[in-house]
Amino acid sequence: MKHFGLDIWGEDNFIIKEGLIHVNYASEPSLLSITKALREQGYKGPLLLRFPHLIKKQIKTLFDTFETARKTFGYTGSFHAVFPLKVNQFPNFVSSLIAVSKEYHYGLEAGSKAELIIAMTQTPIGAPITVNGFKDKEMISLCFIASNMGHDITITIEGLEELKTIIQIHKEFNASMHNTLSPKIGMRIRLHSSGIGIWAKSGGYSSKFGLTSTELLEAYEMLKKEDLLEYLWMVHFHIGSQMGDIAPLKKALREAGNIYAELKKRGATSLGAINIGGGLAVEYSQHEGKQERNYSLQEFANDVVYLMQDIARSKGVEEPDIFTESGRYIAASHSVLIAPVLELFSQEYHEKGLRLKEKNPPLIEELHDLYRSLTPKHAREYLHDTLDHMESLLTLFDLGYIDLEDRSNTEILVNLIIKKSIVLLQTQGNNELKKLQDRIQEKYLVNFSTFQSLPDFWGLAQQFPIVPLDKLDIEPSNPASIWDITCDSDGEIGFKPELPLYLHDIDVSKEEYFLGFFLTGAYQEILGMKHNLFTHPSEAVITFDDKGEYKIEHLIEAQNLMDVLEDLDYDVEMIDTTLKERIQASLSINDKEKEVLLSKLYLYLSENSYLKTIQANNE
Ligand SMILES: *Cc1c(COP(=O)(O)O)cnc(C)c1O
Repeated sequence: MKHFGLDIWGEDNFIIKEGLIHVNYASEPSLLSITKALREQGYKGPLLLRFPHLIKKQIKTLFDTFETARKTFGYTGSFHAVFPLKVNQFPNFVSSLIAVSKEYHYGLEAGSKAELIIAMTQTPIGAPITVNGFKDKEMISLCFIASNMGHDITITIEGLEELKTIIQIHKEFNASMHNTLSPKIGMRIRLHSSGIGIWAKSGGYSSKFGLTSTELLEAYEMLKKEDLLEYLWMVHFHIGSQMGDIAPLKKALREAGNIYAELKKRGATSLGAINIGGGLAVEYSQHEGKQERNYSLQEFANDVVYLMQDIARSKGVEEPDIFTESGRYIAASHSVLIAPVLELFSQEYHEKGLRLKEKNPPLIEELHDLYRSLTPKHAREYLHDTLDHMESLLTLFDLGYIDLEDRSNTEILVNLIIKKSIVLLQTQGNNELKKLQDRIQEKYLVNFSTFQSLPDFWGLAQQFPIVPLDKLDIEPSNPASIWDITCDSDGEIGFKPELPLYLHDIDVSKEEYFLGFFLTGAYQEILGMKHNLFTHPSEAVITFDDKGEYKIEHLIEAQNLMDVLEDLDYDVEMIDTTLKERIQASLSINDKEKEVLLSKLYLYLSENSYLKTIQANNE
């Protein structure tokens, strides 16, 4: 895995120079330098860095690619996009998104009342808002309030009851206001075809959402009867997220395109747009041959434009405007989670743990020689000798011929030899070696929570690229599994021989070692949960000034302990008094000592749950 698969998942967003991973933009700061700057300000736990320039890059690429496709095919409909808020509603993300997308008329998609309020306040007037998901009377009324503010808003109906409510509210608004502006109406279609992959449930015939053909016809008749056909303007579908294969999209496009054309021919003259939802996949894989996406963005855009044109031409209707609601594609790359390694759990297998004697058993001497003279040429042969010697030495121990120190030396030397062989033989994809890696894997205890920061790893086994921030000019030797600091045994990213991750052998009491978890910007933050009461990590927005120098902005520190408890509806005042009273009431300490304990206690209460360090000799 050269450079941790950067050329597979990295999209040129980062580069490796002199052993460090750098942001490939402006003055190209290393992630390590940004991390150190933040830690000097006292932020010791995991850090979430946001890069607005990467949001901009995705938006620009999306618009440019569709523009190229439109030009190629001479497409007459226009292209628009909205960001589905459910993918990331955090204010530092949304305000960055809005700030970088001004020139694109980029809008927001809302699926709940709270998201709609974000959309109503953050979307620039004139940029589109789409509203999906189940809606009640209040939510539909909010859409009418938004349209009366001047927002270009489309309500997608998911069922006939919803349409009835829309008609009712339309009447109410018209009765009470003389010049009301009503939202546009979209119809979500229940696709016959479905997506593939772990998120496919939102498309397809058994999907929670959308109208069947019979319901579409009924909805059309209802709108016609109420004289509201002029508001029907969009056909919408969404086939599910992280669509790895393009084939289901093409099927869905044909289906939706034909529904658009049929409705239009029937008399829905104001129908003018097709909304293809999200689903555009992100390449998360770090491993050659394990890619998750089998198409390029250009292929995706060409398919959409070509198929819509083809259907519109053959049915003799106008080419529809195209809307996308890609979320994952826009947001995933913008953030990097950086977490310090706190400890390595097989430090005992370090060279410094050897207790070699003046005179060692001959087989141990031999192991030591093998270790020192290991070369690529002889590595395999030496490895076999090593395993053989180990068996013999363990038997000798059982029979009482060697002592505990000899046995410990055996274990250390064997581990060191396997590790060194792995580095030497890495390029050969040796099966035998792969099996051995499981045995000698190193456990890295990392200061973060998978439940909070990588929930899709926990829930769906979604992989995220992991890269150490430095030492990238040194071949890593340890097959690694990563432990988070929750007390849950599921909080582990285990070593997988088929998706191997190697990290460096380091002594964390002497130097710091940070891991970067990449492509965490979509879904992870809001799905993250406070298991063990580890909260959203401290975050910062990294921008670049005119000179290209980076700036750290909008720092938000992880919640302190009392805030976390207050969120759970604990009576924090009561907690505060109880803690105080119990110290005051203690009979074993004097007043002066009580003061000291109290001030310590208050310091700790003002901090967050993440660990500072577990090394006694670090600060
Ligand atoms: C979730 C969702 C999206 C976003 O999907 P991505 O795969 O993140 O692009 C778009 N539209 C609708 C209706 C959704 O529910």
